[in-house]
Amino acid sequence: MNPTSTAQLMDGAGLARRSVEETTAAAEEIRLRTGTAPCLATVLVGEDPSSVTYVRMKRNRCARAGIESRHVALPAESTTQDVVAAVTALSQDPGVHGILLQHPMGPGVDERAAFEAIAPEKDVDGVTMHSFAAMGFGLPGFVSCTPGGIMRLLDAYEVGLAGKHAVVVGRSAILGKPAGMLLLGRNATVTYCHSYTADLSSLVRQADVLVAAVGRPRFITGADIRPGAVVIDAGYNEGNVGDVDFATASERASLITPVPGGVGPMTIAVLLEQTVTAASRQLGLS
Ligand code: NAP
Repeated sequence: MNPTSTAQLMDGAGLARRSVEETTAAAEEIRLRTGTAPCLATVLVGEDPSSVTYVRMKRNRCARAGIESRHVALPAESTTQDVVAAVTALSQDPGVHGILLQHPMGPGVDERAAFEAIAPEKDVDGVTMHSFAAMGFGLPGFVSCTPGGIMRLLDAYEVGLAGKHAVVVGRSAILGKPAGMLLLGRNATVTYCHSYTADLSSLVRQADVLVAAVGRPRFITGADIRPGAVVIDAGYNEGNVGDVDFATASERASLITPVPGGVGPMTIAVLLEQTVTAASRQLGLS
C-alpha cells in the first residue's frame, strides 16, 4: 500500500470468508434435516472464455460450501427459445433451488426473455424483473449479488448511510442501478453518474459514499475524492485494476475497498448465501 495512505481497507476477502463459513454451515444443516443438499444450476450459452472461467469458479465455490451444482451447457448458436426452454425446465425442477444464467449469451438470444424464464424463488443472482421490482419496493426478494455484497461491506464497517450523499458512477442493470436503489432504500441521497453526465468530477467530489462501477481502469483519482469519503470500487479491469486509482484515492478516503479482495469476493458470497436461502425456503425450512 502507498506509505502515505490514511484510508482503512475494507477487507471484502475476509468478510466473504466468514460469510461463506456461515453459508456452509447452513447448507450442511439443510442437508442433515432434509437429506437434500442445496443445488445451484448454472447455464452457459457458448464458450466465451471469461464466462467459462466465471462459471467454473462459481461451481467450485459451491462445491466447497456443500452446495451441489448442475451445469447446462448450450451451444453458441442457441436461440432465445432454446435458452428459455432450458431455463424453464430448471425453474420447474424441484431438485434445483437456484439458477445462474451466465451472460453474455450471444447475439441470437434476447437476454431479458431468457432471464425472465427464471422462477422468482430461484432467482439467486437477482436478475429478473420480479427481483428488481421487489428491491425497488423494499420488499423481500433476492438482490443482485454485487450490489448486495456492497451493502454487506458497508454494514460490516458500520458506515452510516442515512442522510449521506452517495454517488454511484455507472448505471448498469446488474450493478450501478441496483446499488443506487439499495442505498436509497437506506435513506442515502443518491446521485447517479453515467456516460452522459456533465461535470462528473464535481459530482464525485461531493460524495460521502462513492460507488465506482464504470469498467474503466483508474477512472476516478484521489483528486476527486472528498476527504474522509468511503470509497467502494466495484470495478474489475484487466490486470486486476479497479475503477478507482487506489494509490491516490487511499490518501483521501477514510475507508476504501482494495481490488482485488474488496467487492469481488463479496459477490460470490452473496450468490452462495442466496442459494442456501432459496433451498431452505423451497424445502419448507424457512
Ligand atoms: P457496464 O454494463 O459496462 O456499465 C458501465 C457503466 O459505466 C454504464 O452505466 C456507463 O454509462 C458508465 N460509464 C462508462 N463510461 C463512462 C464514462 N466515461 N463516464 C461516466 N460513466 C461511464 O459495466 P458493469 O457490468 O456495470 O461493470 C462495471 C465494472 O464493475 C466493470 O469493471 C466490471 O468488471 C465490474 N464488475 C465487478 C463485479 C464484481 O463481482 N466485483 C461484478 C460485475 C461487474 P452508460 O449507461 O451511459 O453507458
